[in-house]
Order: sequence, then structure tokens, then C-alpha cells
Amino acid sequence: MALEEFSEIAAARRIQRLSSHISPALTEPPQLQTEACSSRTRKLVVNGQALSLYMKGKHRDIQEKVHEFYNSRPDLQTPLEISKDDHRELCMRQLYALVREAGIRPFRYVADDPAKYFAIMEAVGSVDMSFGIKMGVQYSLWGGSVINLGTKKHRDKYFDGIDNLDYLGCFAMTELHHGSNVQGLQTTATFDPITDEFIIDTPHDGAIKWWIGNAAVHGKFATVFARLILPTHDTKGVSDMGVHAFIVPIRDMKTHQTLPGVEIQDCGQKVGLNGVDNGALRFRSVRIPRDNLLNRFGDVSRDGKYTSSLPTINKRFGATLGELVGGRVALAYSSVGVLKVSATIAIRYSLLRQQFGPPKQPEVSILDYQSQQHKLMPMLASTYAYHFATVYLVEKYSEMKKTNDEQLVADVHALSAGLKSYITSYTAKSLSVCREACGGHGYAAVNRFGGLRNDHDIFQTFEGDNTVLLQQVAADLLKRYKEKFQGGTLTVTWSYLRESMSSYLAQPNPVTARWEGEDHLRDPKFQLDAFRYRTSRLLQSVAMRLKKHSKTLGTFGAWNRCLNHLLTLAESHIETVILAKFIEAVRKCPDPSARAGLKLVCDLYALDRIWNDIGTYRNVDYVAPNKAKAIHKLAEYLSFQVRNVAKELVDAFELPDHVTRAPIAMQADAYSQYTQVVGF
Ligand SMILES: Cc1cc2nc3c(=O)[nH]c(=O)nc-3n(C[C@H](O)[C@H](O)[C@H](O)COP(=O)(O)OP(=O)(O)OC[C@H]3O[C@@H](n4cnc5c(N)ncnc54)[C@H](O)[C@@H]3O)c2cc1C
Repeated sequence: MALEEFSEIAAARRIQRLSSHISPALTEPPQLQTEACSSRTRKLVVNGQALSLYMKGKHRDIQEKVHEFYNSRPDLQTPLEISKDDHRELCMRQLYALVREAGIRPFRYVADDPAKYFAIMEAVGSVDMSFGIKMGVQYSLWGGSVINLGTKKHRDKYFDGIDNLDYLGCFAMTELHHGSNVQGLQTTATFDPITDEFIIDTPHDGAIKWWIGNAAVHGKFATVFARLILPTHDTKGVSDMGVHAFIVPIRDMKTHQTLPGVEIQDCGQKVGLNGVDNGALRFRSVRIPRDNLLNRFGDVSRDGKYTSSLPTINKRFGATLGELVGGRVALAYSSVGVLKVSATIAIRYSLLRQQFGPPKQPEVSILDYQSQQHKLMPMLASTYAYHFATVYLVEKYSEMKKTNDEQLVADVHALSAGLKSYITSYTAKSLSVCREACGGHGYAAVNRFGGLRNDHDIFQTFEGDNTVLLQQVAADLLKRYKEKFQGGTLTVTWSYLRESMSSYLAQPNPVTARWEGEDHLRDPKFQLDAFRYRTSRLLQSVAMRLKKHSKTLGTFGAWNRCLNHLLTLAESHIETVILAKFIEAVRKCPDPSARAGLKLVCDLYALDRIWNDIGTYRNVDYVAPNKAKAIHKLAEYLSFQVRNVAKELVDAFELPDHVTRAPIAMQADAYSQYTQVVGF
């Protein structure tokens, strides 16, 4: 029997065995009633069906189509052990199969229905995160750069080839010496008026394009970001017009050989995402036609004259990068998907796993331990919070693509930067918490945390490093703070600052600082006021500090002196937006029982965050000592309540079978099924 055939049969067997583990019924172990909670143990009933109906995005059908297709194709599922090279080929086959066999064509949605595109990306990422990223490189990065930065002639020429995967491509921005600082890129594109071409050059090793997805093996083209150099008739001889994007063919369409002047190296084995072929590109006087400049924001005429509707290099650069926020939206959205998977696996296992118990009584579920609830229940609440926040982000992004409204562009830019960094950082940390919450079994590769953690980790860095992106949020807040005093308008997401600046910056009310009743603490007004107060205070104080330090340190030095403060401000603002959207989602939920479940997790999200930052609130007496204690106690109690409906809450994510196919997430009789995985 050929080795290939053998491994296919083995894979099919494994999948069959794992599929048999899935049983929807969960036999709950006896539940421990902790003393702290015994006075209020009435179990909330959550209508899981109504809840999942409410959560269901309008593109759930296409996600189900993706899941069904890959579930029915064991040959397209990624085995646990696979070499880098095989993984890359498998991801390529997965992508071809999506487009050419399942008939799903994501590219047309990139511009016309982004919400649908993000839904496909999430579903595809749940098959294999490498596959999701490979699809993102092809359609949002390479394809997105062509349709968003180019003009009609580019769309006409490249759309079909990108869509049907004949034109596989890369997005070549990062260089060895410059990643976050895109304005510092060194690759050049010099216009040659004699031949009507651009000449692409890598002037030194530091300018080699690095980490470029699809470059090592499959890419035929690259959108190369390079400084546009135009000849001039003055003494300088040339003029640097700043970073622009160019389409550069890198491999022959027929032979797939690397084209003359292009050198490609492989970036090698990575911590995760090894199904994506990241490579390095060097250009030695590679000539491309003038038409290959993606000329939406700046163009060069036949006689070498530069034209643009935007007046400065900075404005053009901002507009260029602004068109690329779709990648961030996709990462924020997909990161919530990863969080749903890992929280589901850990919570299902924690409901099932029993350790210790009161003397002479049955052992109890580990989710009955307060510490386990503390690890996982606020995480479950956060997953819900981020779900609604990213749904909102996708809505805003889609609206922005349709209207191109200037204020909306600015709003979505900051919101996508903030949510991408905040959520991906949270998910990365949670993956470790989930692994640890599942003890030794969490460490078995088959239970997925290791793979998810390795694959997801880089979400914190690509499409903009999280620390750098949060600074953009802070800078935006400061700009709006300044505008507020100059009477400018504030966009929707930021409008709370207008009221909060005047009302919240007054001294905290000593009476409300002492209110500690449950009704008050669970009142959305109290919660949102507290979040807004913190953000407003941070904003005002950092603005004053920046002003003071810039006198002696200059703008750059002052910014760096206040950097941690600025990052805290950005996170605080993003948490505020998340809470506001969550409260709105609870209010709009039509089914009373589903709404009660959402209200519970929303309250837990809010109180847990306030408690996490209780020092800030105490420092200014926003909450009195007893109120702080009451917040803590109530958060613990809510965690306990959430534990009681945890099964319904994770089931409402409606994750497909293959996603939770981790033996420890299996339900009744998991142990006997788990032992089969290792061969008993
Ligand atoms: C798997 C993978 C795939 C990728 N795919 C692509 C691709 O297809 N195309 C592409 O063009 N690029 C790609 N990249 C590159 C990626 O976008 C960059 O790695 C990313 O933008 C960060 O840049 P850097 O690595 O140079 O980090 P740096 O910018 O050097 O950052 C290093 C550290 O310095 C800190 N830092 C930097 N600047 C500041 C600042 N101003 N203030 C405070 N701290 C700061 C950061 O927070 C970070 O912790 C990929 C990278 C990886 C690993």
C-alpha cells in the first residue's frame, strides 16, 4: 500500500473515531453549592436556542456550507502531525477546493459584502488557522491592495485571476529593517521616462522584503510597497514621493520559475501557521510597466509628472494605509472565533471533570471550584462582549466601504486598531489560561490549545503590532479631546466624551460612591458611567502630562514619557466601547430568557473589569471601600451564576463539530472515548 494511501486511510479512521465522540447530551456531575452562594441559588433558565438564534450572524448559512464541505472531506482536514512542506501544500489544496469545488468565491465579497467575507474567513480559519490566513493573504491583502489602492484598469485586469486563484499573490510591505514603521521602508521604484517603466530595487539587505505570505512557494505576483522616485530637472536629480504600491510579477505564469532580477528565500519553520509559506524577496533592477503603479491616490504621467488629489505625502500615506484596515477587522473577528473555541473546550471539560469533594460524598465538577469559575466565567462573559463588539465593527466597516464618509473612516480606523489589539491580546492570554484550566489533558496536542495558541499568537503582531496600534487609538482620542475644546464634532463611537468630559470630571459624588446594593451595581448606567469616568480621567490627565513634558522633552520625548499612561487610556476607551455595545445588545435581545442570560454575562463582564482596576477607582474615591468589597462579592456570585448556565452559554456559540473535536471537550463518556485516541 502506498504511504499516501495509508495515511489517508489512517486520517479517515481517526476522523471517524473522533466524530463518534460527539454527543450533544451532557451529563452534569453533582453540583457543589458553595456556602458563599447558598443564599441565592435559584438557577436562571436560559433558552439556548433563542440565544443562539440571536447570536447568529446573518451569514451563518455560508459558514455552515463551509463546515459541511470540509467535514465531508477528510482528505482536506489537517492532521495533528504534518511537515511544514506538506502543510503548505494542504493549505493550498484547501483553498483551491473552497473556490473550485465548494464554489465559494470570497473575493467578490471583499469589496461588496465584507460581512460575508469575514464570516467565510472565520469558518475557514476554524478548519485550519493557516488556511484562514492563506485565504486572507490572497484576498484581503494581495487582492484587497489591487482593488482598494488601484483603479478600474487594475480591477479589470486582475480581478478574475485573483478570484479564481490563477493569480496567486503576496502583499510585500514589511522589510528586514522596518516592520511597524512603514514610512521608513527603503525599497525603491524609480521611474524611467525613456522606457515608461518603474525599476524596482532593494538597495541593501535591510530592505529585503521579509515575512511575505505566499512568497516562498505559491505566489505569482506581489504588491510591493516602495518609495516612488521621480527624476527631476533640478540639482538633486530625483525626488522621493514617499511610499506607493506596485504590482510586481515574481514568478512565470507558465513555468512558475522565479523571474529575472527577483530572488526568493524561504522564511522557514515558524512557531505556528506553518501552512503559510512566508518568504523573503529581493529585487535587482526589476522593470515593470508604468501601469503597474496602484494609482488611486497618486499617479505618474507618461512624461514623469506626479499628480494626486491629496496634497501631502503624509495624507497620501494615511489614505493608502487607511484602505488596509480590513485586515485588522478580519483579525479581530477571527480572534473572537478562536476565543469561542478555546473557552468552549475548557468549559465543557471543566463541567465534566471531577476532582475531590466533601467528605463521603461524590467528587464534584472542577467548575464548582471558585478558582476555576474565576478563570473561566469572566472569560466566557468577555467572549460574548467581544462577539457583539466585532459584529458592530463589521457593520461600521461595511457602511464605511459603501459611503466613504470621512468621519466614519476615522472612526473605523481607530476602532479596528483598538479592537484588533485589545481582543487578540486577550485571546492570546486566555489560550494559556484554558490550557492550564484543563490540567495535563490540556497539554495533549489533540486537545488543541497548543496548536491554537501557536497559530493565534502572531495575531498580536501582524496587521499592526498591538502596542503600536493602541497608540493610534490614544492619538485619536487626544485629537478629539482637542477638537472638543475647539467646538469640533465627535463621531458616534467617541461621542460619550462630550458629556463625560463635563459631567465625569467633576469630583466623584460621595453619596453614590457608597451605594452598594445589587440593583445599583447591576444597573448599566452605573457600569457605563464608571468606565466612562475612568477613560475621561485618563484622557484629561495624560493630555496635561503631555503638555507639561513636551516643553522640556519635545513631542516625541513627551509621548514616550507618557507611553504606558497612553496605552492604559486606549485600553480603557476600547473597554468602554465594548461595554456600551454589549449593553445595547442585551437591551435589543427579543427573547426574555435569552436576554436574562446575556444580562448576566454583561454584568459579570462590567463588574469584573471594574474590580480588575479597583485601585484606580479607589484612588479617587469613585467607589468607597465597602462598595469595592460589594463589587468583588457580586462578581464572584455572578461567576457562580454563569457557571450554572455555562453549558447553555457555550452551546449557543453553535460551534461545528470539527471545531470542538478535542476529546476533552467531548461530553458524556468522554474518558472511554479519550482513551481510544491514544490507542486503547
Ligand atoms: C507569520 C507572519 C506573517 C507575516 N505576513 C506578512 C505579509 O504577508 N506581508 C507583510 O508585509 N508583512 C508580514 N508580516 C510582518 C508583520 O506585519 C510585522 O512583523 C509587523 O508589522 C511588526 O513589525 P516588526 O516585526 O518589524 O516588529 P517591530 O516593529 O520591530 O516591533 C518589535 C517590538 O517593538 C515594539 N515597538 C515598535 N515600535 C514601537 C513604538 N513606536 N512604540 C512602542 N513600542 C514599539 C513593538 O511593540 C514590538 O514589541 C508577517 C509577520 C509574521 C511573523
